[in-house]
Amino acid sequence: MRGGMVEAESKKVPKELKAWEKERKLIPVMIKKYCHGKHGTKGEDLCEECKALTVYALFRLEKCPFKVNKKFCSFCKIHCYKPDMRGKIKDVMKWAGPRMIFTHPVFAFKHVFQTISYKRKLKKEVKAKSNV
Ligand code: SF4
Ligand SMILES: [Zn+2]
Repeated sequence: MRGGMVEAESKKVPKELKAWEKERKLIPVMIKKYCHGKHGTKGEDLCEECKALTVYALFRLEKCPFKVNKKFCSFCKIHCYKPDMRGKIKDVMKWAGPRMIFTHPVFAFKHVFQTISYKRKLKKEVKAKSNV
């Protein structure tokens, strides 16, 4: 019954907000994975630092101006995180990202593909600037 309700709820999310919605669900999963692996917590427990990071990351996502067809925060032009939180979430992504391959392969591969195309785009921009 509950499974059917969850399905019905997730179907309500418009297509263009699906990536944002997915990130909203997976950011806490990644932080938890990181906290368990790096800070020795277990089950639903998180250390204070990771709790604060989860709340902060979800707040930023809620306020995000790029919710529609959202790309990963790592490729954001404005990056709305304050510097210390940005450093922390980077560490989480770096550590938990590759480990998501086993539990959330689609999400993990999407991240890899977006990283490759983002790096290509950056290279092109640098080349174009040096040709001016
Ligand atoms: S970093 Fe960019 S994409 Fe991520 S939540 Fe902030 S504004 Fe949105
Ligand atoms: Zn932690």
